[in-house]
Amino acid sequence: MGELTKTLELKLVDPNLHKRQKLRETRDAYQRALQAAFDTGCDTQSATNDVVVEYDLSGYAKNALKKYVPQLCGNSYDANEIHDDHPVRFTNEGLQLDHQPQNAIEWYAKVPHHEDYHLWIPARANPDQRDWLEALNAGDAEMGKSRLFERDGTWYLHVTATRDVEDKSEASADKRTPIGVDIGEASLVTVCHRDGSGSPVRPRLWADDGKSVRRLRKTYFTATRRLQKRGSERIADSFGDALWNQIDDVFHRVTREVVEYAESVENPVLVLEDLRYIRENMDYGEYMNRRLHGWGFAKLHAQIRYKAAEKGIPVETVNPRNTSKACHACGEHGYRPRQATFRCSNGGCWVGEYQADVNGAINIADRYRSGESHRQSDWASGQKAGADDSATDGASLTGPQDSQADAETQQTTLGTYAS
Ligand SMILES: [Zn+2]
Repeated sequence: MGELTKTLELKLVDPNLHKRQKLRETRDAYQRALQAAFDTGCDTQSATNDVVVEYDLSGYAKNALKKYVPQLCGNSYDANEIHDDHPVRFTNEGLQLDHQPQNAIEWYAKVPHHEDYHLWIPARANPDQRDWLEALNAGDAEMGKSRLFERDGTWYLHVTATRDVEDKSEASADKRTPIGVDIGEASLVTVCHRDGSGSPVRPRLWADDGKSVRRLRKTYFTATRRLQKRGSERIADSFGDALWNQIDDVFHRVTREVVEYAESVENPVLVLEDLRYIRENMDYGEYMNRRLHGWGFAKLHAQIRYKAAEKGIPVETVNPRNTSKACHACGEHGYRPRQATFRCSNGGCWVGEYQADVNGAINIADRYRSGESHRQSDWASGQKAGADDSATDGASLTGPQDSQADAETQQTTLGTYAS
């Protein structure tokens, strides 16, 4: 078992005038305190404390300075490098994240301002780091120090996080058993793989959980609409939070069971559909369904990813094109006479009718077997990622790195987990 630490990138979304003012106040006070402590040559925590105690900053920022300034002074740091856009550092307890998956902007960050005063600001996360945020949200990763900074009028938060991972097995790709993971509406998740002779094993379906999640979503929409009509926004909010928490509980249990299933297979690799392709492939309904469906995908995928990493199980993605339309036995396209049934159009194929989600899961597994695994690099050079409302939250974060933070960067990576 090892530990993995990463810097998570969050972009604060359109803070209003008041909040921007408060963020600037925090930064300016921090900057002045840092400069004063540095000029005084504070090389101990208590010496730094004597200087920074005067400033209108949160304890989280002051404590971060107490650790940071002695490091700088002890390293004959070049004073010129302490310039105006030095990031504001907070100790690990300073920042909090709240997840509101039903909202267009899903994350909220609590940013300390000064003693007993903080700001909640909606934040967009780097979609590639969603597994980390899910882990943090579930208490399966630990939040470390954070840094707040502004670049070109946009405010960013960089948060270090640490979680446990297991070393992956050394088995080569062709020795692995691909387990197809199909995420759907009828069955929330379906997993299946082929045994040594190539026959699909008995699949596992989480069909009842699909029903529960559908019911919870429906309750959410009818109830919150009713409450909002009556002007009970706050009741609607807290009721909504409770329902989403219930959905999240289902997701966490199911994703844990998916990883347990993988653990029971020798040299497993979990194969997921690449979310960046989902949008073009799905037969979406109305806007809301589409967004929620996307939310479910992204959340389930992220949870599977981090829980698989905890167990050393690799996860790969493949292009989902036609995984629900093609027959896993003969490759011909079929159709769905009913939601849960796939019917092969090839009269000579023995399959006839098959459980649709299982057919999809086997296709996903087979696509890995055929060597078609899509990595980030393939994508960058090939197709263009949807930058709007695709299944992940789309807009990839291109926020700048605060390179000067390297004094304390502890980006440990373990072999293949470096992605
Ligand atoms: Zn067929």
